[in-house]
Amino acid sequence: MSQAEFRSRARRLRDARRLVVKVGSALLVDAKSGRLNRAWLESLADDLARATRRGQQVIVVSSGAIAMGRRHLGFANERLRLEESQAAAAVGQIRLAHAWQELLEARKLAVAQVLLTFEDTEERQRYLNARATVNTLLSLGAIPVINENDTVATAEIRYGDNDRLAARVAQMASAECLVLLSDIDGLYSADPKVDPAATFIPEVREITLQLESTATGPVSGVGSGGMSTKVAAARIALAAGCSLCIASGHRQNPLKAIEEGERCTWFVAEATPVAVRKQWIAGTLKPRGRIFIDAGAAAALGRGKSLLPAGVARVSGGFERGDTVSIIAAGREIGRGLAGYSAADAARIAGHRSADIEALVGFRGREELIHRDDLVMLRERAE
Ligand code: GLU
Repeated sequence: MSQAEFRSRARRLRDARRLVVKVGSALLVDAKSGRLNRAWLESLADDLARATRRGQQVIVVSSGAIAMGRRHLGFANERLRLEESQAAAAVGQIRLAHAWQELLEARKLAVAQVLLTFEDTEERQRYLNARATVNTLLSLGAIPVINENDTVATAEIRYGDNDRLAARVAQMASAECLVLLSDIDGLYSADPKVDPAATFIPEVREITLQLESTATGPVSGVGSGGMSTKVAAARIALAAGCSLCIASGHRQNPLKAIEEGERCTWFVAEATPVAVRKQWIAGTLKPRGRIFIDAGAAAALGRGKSLLPAGVARVSGGFERGDTVSIIAAGREIGRGLAGYSAADAARIAGHRSADIEALVGFRGREELIHRDDLVMLRERAE
């Protein structure tokens, strides 16, 4: 595949409204000295700043906490026990966050540290809160720098987990593109370090079992999770409508290099994140409750607006915030959405103006009962 073809594929990176860039430990931290690869990070920060200047919203998923922290605690290259890794992460994360702050603030970008655990991206209510926070940060022009909250993780911290975390973040943020910067330039038919006949795979549209079996485990001890975690990440990303690129970070300005046509592997999503999310909401088998709305609200939803409490006549069911609910108008289900309030709170604010929400429920919640991004109108059923 020619450079021009790679450049054309890289439009997915250029055109993404939201872009997630994951940086692995081996790129961030020099294995021998345990110090940051500062010159390289400066060049990456330039790339990120350029993306934001052209209107893209950027999220960074940064590994490297353990790699940075272990030296400071006097560990050499030995394998760490879980609590030692967690201690190293606690020491390293503060330094890592500081480095990102310096790098990005020098480019007039606000930086926010977000530490997530896998449960946050899997458990519904925490997921919604994390999503809302990340959305708010992005809309205010800040760059969330995300890592796993290693100090409270209960399972073994594995290198490569951040590939999957990055895919979950991309899914959570409805990002169109995820770039995994790695120590290898993409996917091969076999491990190129072992098999000289291994061929490069420039594009993947479907993750087959055969592809999964060619993607092997860890390829280096320093930081790489190997190909298997990357393919697992790609599976999550594609299912969320997000295209994913595995590219080498062993070059200055790695994002610019991709855009200019450097070789990398693209996993191409067929659907868009919004379409996937809406399909998922619409497909919920058992909505947890019902929200009965008036004709005015139904008309507003038809025009693509959010559902405000003012248009709600009553609610039924025992739903919690984040559960899927049916929206009923004139006795018919017209849509489904994720509730922004529990059934009890929704009942309290039904029929009231959004400005009164705080007085009614005792906290300053969101204006909408169902945000338009969390709402899907069902097609009229043929009579
Ligand atoms: N969260 C770990 C760290 O920051 C790294 C996990 C990974 O590289 O996948 O050290």
